[in-house]
Amino acid sequence: MNYTPEERAKWDRLIQMIRDTLENSGQIAIFNTFIRPLKLYAVSSDTLYISGDNAFNLNHMKQRFGTMLYSMVPVVFGRRYELEYYLESEIARMVDRQAASALNEKYTFENFIVGPSNNLAYATSLAVAQTPGDAYNPLFIYGGVGLGKTHLINAIGNYITRENPRMNVLLMTSEAMTNELIESIANRKTSALRARLRNVDVLMVDDVQFLSKTKATQEEFFHTFNSLHDQKKQIIIASDRPPKELPEIQERLRSRFEWGLTVDIQRPDYETRVAILRQKAEDMGIEVPEEVIDYIAQSVNSNIRELEGCLTNLNAHAELLKQPISLELARTALAGRIGAQAARAITPELIIEVVARHYSVTPEDITGKKRSQDIALPRQVAMYICRKMTALSTPSIGRAFGNRDHTTVLHNCDKVAETMEADFAFRKKVEELMGFVENN
Ligand code: ADP
Ligand code: MG
Repeated sequence: MNYTPEERAKWDRLIQMIRDTLENSGQIAIFNTFIRPLKLYAVSSDTLYISGDNAFNLNHMKQRFGTMLYSMVPVVFGRRYELEYYLESEIARMVDRQAASALNEKYTFENFIVGPSNNLAYATSLAVAQTPGDAYNPLFIYGGVGLGKTHLINAIGNYITRENPRMNVLLMTSEAMTNELIESIANRKTSALRARLRNVDVLMVDDVQFLSKTKATQEEFFHTFNSLHDQKKQIIIASDRPPKELPEIQERLRSRFEWGLTVDIQRPDYETRVAILRQKAEDMGIEVPEEVIDYIAQSVNSNIRELEGCLTNLNAHAELLKQPISLELARTALAGRIGAQAARAITPELIIEVVARHYSVTPEDITGKKRSQDIALPRQVAMYICRKMTALSTPSIGRAFGNRDHTTVLHNCDKVAETMEADFAFRKKVEELMGFVENN
């Protein structure tokens, strides 16, 4: 719905007032012809969008009753609104477009918790939603899985749709885009898809890292991008990594992703996790004691979807066992999830073990004195992963690697970082190793 139940009730009251007025002056027929067919379509922050079923009557209505309607609105709504009138056929087109926009209405700015990890992404998203095509174009949002990218871009889309019901907002995953393109090529309907993509006011592409690397798909997207950008139409892209780390994407497209603003979302800190858990509990309508919130927030720090998963799981247990949610119940219910995390406590020993196994050397080789390249490389990689995945200081890492100096640690980490920048295969390998460490 594009208005709240309260707004709808006010609108009904407004129409009733007009009806009473006209009826009292013997003009009920006029009411039936011109006012009764009016419907409320949407309410934005400053405008009521109203529809009528026939152009002649709608025009007549505007001329004859427009001013009256305008001046009665504040009586019922308690404030002024601009009025905009549409034909129902136009509305139907807008509704179709909105239905096809694939927005998820439950993701809004209001229910997005802001903390240091995401405030920049939040603020720029809001700016883009308020002045689409104007502020930052494209807006490129990246961050790890489950950190709120899809939530934010839907919030932008929902905001724009509400404030500007006439705007054509389209959200697509890059997979959907790829599939549609392949289908349209097969059915020889590329021009229809092209027209659809290039006629939007706001195009949002989620998970762009999955955009097919086929030339046809990328070319199509490239031209769509240019066409929209030239017309100052807003483009928003979400990705799990920054543009320059999208190796499958053609350089010319990738560089366009960087034309506007690139912002990232980080893992939430403890306070933000607590705030998110509180809000989700409230949304779910369940009572969760503070100590349980604290327990989950302490134990789960990787992603927000996982935080939600814990609450859902805990709630299911409470309902099944007909018990209130308590710390004790949380410990049992979440043993699997949280236990799995605890078992994965990430220490230098674990990292050294994983890296050594991968490079077919021994942990003792890594912590030992040998300097040959086949051992120096895994050692450097293991140090780098320690810096990335533990909170340890460089002197502590040095100690874990056979009492090496902290400047050696720093130097080695820089070297790995540099090689990762330059060599994509190597980067993949290091990332894969970090995945193994995380899941060990
Ligand atoms: P991503 O697209 O980055 O993988 P999602 O946007 O799908 O992540 O977020 C995963 C879940 O976490 C969603 O249910 C979303 O509503 C929730 N979420 C993420 N960030 C926040 C936030 N800051 N406040 C409230 N909920 C959030
Ligand atoms: Mg997502």
